[in-house]
This record gives sequence, C-alpha cells and structure tokens, in this order.
Amino acid sequence: MIEKITEEELKEQHFFAMRVKSVIHMFDHKPLAYTHSYGCQQNVSDGEKINGMLTEMGYELTDDIEKADFILYNTCAVRENAENRVFGNIGAVKNIKRKNPDLVVAVCGCMVQQEHIALQMKKKFPFVDIIFGTHVLHKFPEMLYKVFEKKERVLSIPECDGNIAEGLPVRRDSGFKASVPIMYGCNNFCTYCIVPFVRGRERSRDPEAIIDEVKGLIERGYKEILLLGQNVNSYGKDKGVSFSELLRRLDALEGEFKISFMTSHPKDCTRELIDTIAGSRHIAYHLHLPVQSGSDRILKLMNRHYDIAHYKELVAYAREKIPGLQLTTDIIVGFPGETYEDFKETLELMREIKYDSAFTFIYSKREGTKAAEMEDPVSEEEKGKWFRELLEVQGSVGDDAYKKYVGETLSILCEGRGRTDEKYLTGKSRQNIIVDFSGDDSLIGQFVSVKITKALNWALIGEIQQ
Ligand code: SF4
Repeated sequence: MIEKITEEELKEQHFFAMRVKSVIHMFDHKPLAYTHSYGCQQNVSDGEKINGMLTEMGYELTDDIEKADFILYNTCAVRENAENRVFGNIGAVKNIKRKNPDLVVAVCGCMVQQEHIALQMKKKFPFVDIIFGTHVLHKFPEMLYKVFEKKERVLSIPECDGNIAEGLPVRRDSGFKASVPIMYGCNNFCTYCIVPFVRGRERSRDPEAIIDEVKGLIERGYKEILLLGQNVNSYGKDKGVSFSELLRRLDALEGEFKISFMTSHPKDCTRELIDTIAGSRHIAYHLHLPVQSGSDRILKLMNRHYDIAHYKELVAYAREKIPGLQLTTDIIVGFPGETYEDFKETLELMREIKYDSAFTFIYSKREGTKAAEMEDPVSEEEKGKWFRELLEVQGSVGDDAYKKYVGETLSILCEGRGRTDEKYLTGKSRQNIIVDFSGDDSLIGQFVSVKITKALNWALIGEIQQ
C-alpha cells in the first residue's frame, strides 16, 4: 500500500532535526558534512534532500572528506561495478574515523535497500553508524538523533510499496537547473533491472504540488526544470491525470525556462505526448527512448512490452512532428541468451535509426532479478567484442548528425565552462545538444543566442549573437 507521509510525521522529524542542531551547535567548530550520491538523477535528487536536511540541522557542506564531521554515501544498485566502487570508498573511511572517533558515517540508497547487502555492510564496516534504505529518507533526522543521543547504530531498510514525503528541505546543487521528481518507483519489472525491488511501486505526486514547486522555482530564477521518474510516461496513472496533461499545465506557466524529462519507456510513450512536445513553448525537443535491444526475441526476454515495429513507428512519428528532434537511447549488450544473430539486429537498428547518441552497457547480473536466473552462455570476452562493434557503429552514424545546425542561430542555456575547451563557455540548445561558445562567466545561468559555426559528432561550436 502506498503511503503519504503526514504533516505530523514531518513535524516530528523537524523536532529531531532541531535536537540534532542543538547537539552539534556545541562543537568547538562549524560542523561539516560530506555527502556523495552515485547513480541516476533520482538518486542525486534524494541527495539534494539529504543536503537540505543537513543544512537545516546546522551542518555546512564540504568537499573535503578529511575535514568532515559527518560522511554519507548515497548508493546505486544498477550495476555491479557501481557497488564495488562503494565498498571501496566506504572502506577508505575507516582511517578517517580512526583519526576522528566522533565522525558519524552513514550509507543509504538503492544498494542498501537490498537486505543482504545492508547486513553485509553492517558486519564488514562496524564504523558505519547509520544504514538506511530508500523508503525512510524522510526519517534521516531521527536516525542521526539516535546516533548522537542514544549512541546507537541504526539499520533501517523497511520493505514497503513506497511512500511520498512532500515538503522535505532541499539544497540544490545548481542555482539555475532544478530536478523535480514527479513520481517514484516502477511497476515494469524489466527482467534485468533491480529498480522495482529497491524503489517500490509506482506512485505519482499530486499535480498541484508539482506545479507549485515548478512555479516557485521559475519565480526564483531557475531556467531549466528536469522532471524525474523511473518511467515518467506512466505518471498520473494513480491520479487520473496523464503525463501529457501535466506537461501542458507546466508549459502554460509564464517565464523564460526549459522543461526536460527523464526517463521514458517506449511502451508508455504516446502520440499525445509527442504532439504535446511539438506544440509546446518550453519543452525540450529531446526524447530519450531506451530501446535496449533491436531483437524482438530479446525484448520479450527482457519483459519490455513493445516490439521493434512499434518502436520504429514511434520514432518516425516523433521525427515528423518535433522540429530537429534529438533522439537518444540506452542499449544493453550481452543479455542472457542473446546470440550474435540477435545482436546483429541491434546493430541494424542503430544503422537505421541513427541516434544522436546512445548510452551503451554490457549486461550486469543483478541478484534478485529474473534475468539473474537465466542461462548466460556467452563469455564476457565475447560480449566485449560485441560492445566494441556497437560503439563503432554508433560512432559512424553519429558523425553527420549535427552538421545540419551549421549556420543556424540557437537559443542556448549557458551552464558553465566549456566541454570542448576550458576557454569556452558551454550550454545546451532546446534539443539538449551541447554547444560551446566564447563569452564571460556572467552569462552562466542565462539564455543566449548562438550562431553555429562548426559541428563535432558530439557537440556544436558557435559565436554569441548580441
Ligand atoms: S522501466 Fe524497466 S529498466 Fe526502467 S526502472 Fe523500470 S524496471 Fe527498470
């Protein structure tokens, strides 16, 4: 059963936050907190809430882990190497704690929402004070209070369908780009994916709460709103409102801003959504549409609920309707049981669709998923060969993708120093294409007009227009 965290519960957590504040206020120095979030935007957004709660409790954030009084790792479980990196980084904290026994160490996120990993971590790292899962983020102040006042180690990884906590303090990393979760969890159970097991069932925030939050951000000068969900296209199924409807209401807000969203699922991506993007004032002309494989046989084994014919139809419609659409995707190579014949269908699809860019991964076995039980006869070495072949194909089709923009003038949200060269500034167009250009730092966080003079296969170069 999906729960909504009540006002009373949030008030009680605020009470614990103030108790923690009074404790750390007694330190003979400004209390410092170091936090690091791994993985997807949703996890980074959770990290901003943790930083918001730490700031409310009186901590100052630091990038210097050696100086910290509090260290937190917000973990990701999507791939094995992500987990191995976390174990390594936490192990390194042991020496810092030896030098500063008052240091408080916490680990949270998708990795420790898996009970076997949380218990392994508790046993392996006795210096870790708090281990908590994805469903109790809002109880962070209470857990910290228990460490300070009760000198207890805390392990909290309740299994539940999920909850929604509105109004948690947020400390955003950027002053002009804001991530706004619109829903949490996933009901799709793609057979390779751990997310439904660690993030719970799909649940949407109230549209009014989202619109109020976005309105407030625009009034505070935010220029880009990134709407988040494991599968944003199924937003509102539990609220009787569609994702397209939410987008139209956000697009009607006044101001100079851009709306982006991730991640879409082809089975829920509709013509209505594509028409909404095409007819909008603020929505990015960018569709990230993870196809994962070009083989219908493999898509069935992945439990993806669409076939390549349907996918191609969607892409053709989107390219017809949305001017200069940027189309990107995710591809998994070496799914259990995949043959070289199946893989060749993925290569064929890449050559035909010509994605602007693709995020490509070698299959990573996740304990607890259906795919983890499947026969997987192909060696990692062989999968590595396939992976390199895929990168070659994507490298070749991507070459000309951006040439059509040379000579055009695009509206760019300036985001910081250059990605092609530090002497440039950099930003993204309405298609979310990277554009580098000359200018001074006062332009960061502003929309500027840039005339494109050169195209690389992953970015554009241009000159600012007055
Ligand atoms: S849609 Fe599939 S891949 Fe995406 S989060 Fe849900 S289960 Fe995972």
